[in-house]
Amino acid sequence: MEKLLFLIIFLLIAGNSFSVCPDGKSYEVYLTFDDGPHPVLTPRILDVLKEEEVKATFFVMGYRFKNGKTKNPKPFEILDRMKKEGHLIGSHTQYHIKHNNIKDDDEITKKPSDPNDFLGPFTKRQVFENILKPYSNVDLQRYLTPLVRLPYGAGKIKSTNPTVQVKNDWVMNVLATSKLGHVFWNIDVEDWNVQKEKYLLESLLKQICQKKGGVVLLHDTQSNTAENLKSWIQKIKSEGHKIIPLSEGRKDTGEALAPEICKPEPSTLDSLYNEVNKILIKTGN
Ligand SMILES: [Zn+2]
Repeated sequence: MEKLLFLIIFLLIAGNSFSVCPDGKSYEVYLTFDDGPHPVLTPRILDVLKEEEVKATFFVMGYRFKNGKTKNPKPFEILDRMKKEGHLIGSHTQYHIKHNNIKDDDEITKKPSDPNDFLGPFTKRQVFENILKPYSNVDLQRYLTPLVRLPYGAGKIKSTNPTVQVKNDWVMNVLATSKLGHVFWNIDVEDWNVQKEKYLLESLLKQICQKKGGVVLLHDTQSNTAENLKSWIQKIKSEGHKIIPLSEGRKDTGEALAPEICKPEPSTLDSLYNEVNKILIKTGN
């Protein structure tokens, strides 16, 4: 009997230690979703988050709201729901452009820009407007927190090439001057990458342990994510980790969280826009 009891206790302990990180710890995890809102997939993701009682952060694309609330109500209805259900909404900028690909030569800036070009190069003025535009959309701005995630992390990711780094610094300076905080990620499972689909959950759990928790980059435009999110969340929870909102995040996650989270009133955004605009005119473009 004693032996049996010992065996049961041993199995319980062994089972437990098997399910958490090798260091025996569990961590805090923040879920973030980029590129949406998607008319079908985002509501499905919101359903899962509601069922699992998890709060997340959505970085939305400004261009999805360009027709205004009355002409194009659906994406705004999704934002209403996000807000009502306690999620944070940040900006993924207007178009999904590579913000740090800034033109060197002022002569090139005289060429008309192609609206379908997302990789650039762009003028400083174009980059600036792309960052600020969601905040100057009167229908959209009241939903947005000052949290921004730059597409591809371009501008935020440091470069060893000084010419590139000058451009990165310039992009981050636009955010800082506009009192916008950047939220980077430290856990990336490439949920857009079909090749890696099979190993996604394994990679997610491994990274949570290796990186001691942090910000997970996901996309609410990916059907794989909408389909499997429930099982991913359940697995994260069963490993003992906590999924918490970014707003309740620990300060000691350093790079993983926005260094400062400012909250300018929507009414001040126009004047802010003008203020930054003036500074940029002084610097050239
Ligand atoms: Zn993106």
